[in-house]
Amino acid sequence: MDIRVRYAPSPTGNQHIGGVRTALINYLFARSKGGVFILRLEDTDQTRYSGEYVKNLYETFDWLGFRWDEGPDIGGPAGPYVQSERFALYREHAEKLVAMGQAYYCFCDEERLSTIRAAQAKDDSSEMGYDRHCRGLEPIVAAARLASGEKAVIRLKIPLEGTTKFHDALLGDIEWKNEDVSPDPVLLKSDGFPTYHLANVVDDHFMRISHVMRAQEWIPSAPMHMIMYKAFGWTPPELIHLPMVLGQDGSKLSKRHGATSVNEFRKNGYLPDALINYIAHLGCSFEEGRDIFTLGELEGLFKVEKLNKAPAVFDYQKLEWYNGQYIRMKSDAELVALVKPFLAEAGFVSTNDAVLLAAMPLVRERLHFLKDAPDMMRYLFKEPTLPAKEEFIPKKLDVGRAIELLAAAAAFLPSCDLANIEAAETAFRAEAERLGVKFGDLMMPVRVAITGSRVSPPLFESMALLGVERSVARLEKARAHLS
Ligand code: GLU
Ligand code: ZN
Repeated sequence: MDIRVRYAPSPTGNQHIGGVRTALINYLFARSKGGVFILRLEDTDQTRYSGEYVKNLYETFDWLGFRWDEGPDIGGPAGPYVQSERFALYREHAEKLVAMGQAYYCFCDEERLSTIRAAQAKDDSSEMGYDRHCRGLEPIVAAARLASGEKAVIRLKIPLEGTTKFHDALLGDIEWKNEDVSPDPVLLKSDGFPTYHLANVVDDHFMRISHVMRAQEWIPSAPMHMIMYKAFGWTPPELIHLPMVLGQDGSKLSKRHGATSVNEFRKNGYLPDALINYIAHLGCSFEEGRDIFTLGELEGLFKVEKLNKAPAVFDYQKLEWYNGQYIRMKSDAELVALVKPFLAEAGFVSTNDAVLLAAMPLVRERLHFLKDAPDMMRYLFKEPTLPAKEEFIPKKLDVGRAIELLAAAAAFLPSCDLANIEAAETAFRAEAERLGVKFGDLMMPVRVAITGSRVSPPLFESMALLGVERSVARLEKARAHLS
């Protein structure tokens, strides 16, 4: 069997973690089996559609760096891959079901339908939804009403009795009573637009989709889809419903829990490799005792059997940890390239690549997010804003002593060889002893003067990067600031 899977987003919002997880699992499955991964845009809900969301979809996957083999932008043998370009096909097939006695025209107007809904709500009726009023209309009567210009939708005949069974490769056999399936759902609206159910089934069939892998929230739609496949006389694809992604509190992952759109993660300075690796692990395992994988490795290791049935919990801290790990794996040059857009965003207009490259070893260990880089590195490019005086004063010492220490350091620094960090540090230790203070107490005001903060990347390396002249100037400036 040819393996063909699809990611079928509705462009009604920005790409979020859940969607990307679905896409990624489909992609990995296709790659692990030598199959084809398809992108299909399900843009039948025109009220919530926006071209912005389509743009966001492409940008997101460009950034993540994995791609489909067939899709709207690249075409393919089963196109078009945008549902709004396939309306004729849906109408034809809805009408085919009517001709086969599996669907029927319904002429009920909105007024009648809302009256039914209101009555059901009032009685607390167990019967919910459409009352199948038009199911018994003689085809010849329906045809006459259509011919006279009356508006109608096409509804699917859900069997009145019995059950619908299907197999989910992950969850096992699932059985629904037909009476629990939505009574006769609309397939084609009166304006000729298909509903999700019709378009989804027709497309999965004609695009020769072998496996439908989608989130578990779609399980309630599956019986209806199975009934439709049977009505058409088509073989349904295999179904694999993926575990849900929840927040720490056990509810469906949403904005309340933190960033959910991939855009936000990107802006916050996550690396695509880290995000991909973390998302792949939501409800799926790859190899025991190992955390870090490249996309290529995930492709080789993916197995449906390694998917979990239970929901996955999105752990922002774990992802942060992953991000730090991936940052550390980058070369200095790669990091410079990654960090530059964030520096530009923060207003660093001209930054010297050589300085950036030399600065990377100083910050990489402390960098959890690319977006932290500008703040962390600012002092290497601009004079730091000096904090309040107290920040300069070591414990048990006073401002006068801090001023003396800064003056001493400024006088002493030019005699140090900053090209040799170890030697410079040894020299400063000796200087501290001569001054009768602890080494740490000498370095504290120096650190604040040079970097603007008590916590900073390695100090001697920073002074080496700035050079003696600029370092001394900062020490002098801090001294004046305290005086
Ligand atoms: N358009 C649906 C969605 O937005 C597709 C669901 C499916 O994969 O069948 O997720
Ligand atoms: Zn009706």
